[in-house]
Amino acid sequence: MPMDAAQTLETTRQVPAHEHAWLVDSAHDTSDGRVLYVRCGAGCGARRIDLQGPSTLPPSAVSREFGR
Ligand SMILES: [Zn+2]
Repeated sequence: MPMDAAQTLETTRQVPAHEHAWLVDSAHDTSDGRVLYVRCGAGCGARRIDLQGPSTLPPSAVSREFGR
């Protein structure tokens, strides 16, 4: 396996040119709260998984952005 695979992935990652407009694709209730599967509605293809806790706290990202 190439030693610089991870580094290459990092350097080729594009810096988003916009604030992602996260739209909820689907949501699932779990014992830890509600898991939200979101994607960027601006058409850039970014996806993320958020966790909305049982309280009124805003959702927090539990995954890094992925997809494109
Ligand atoms: Zn976006």
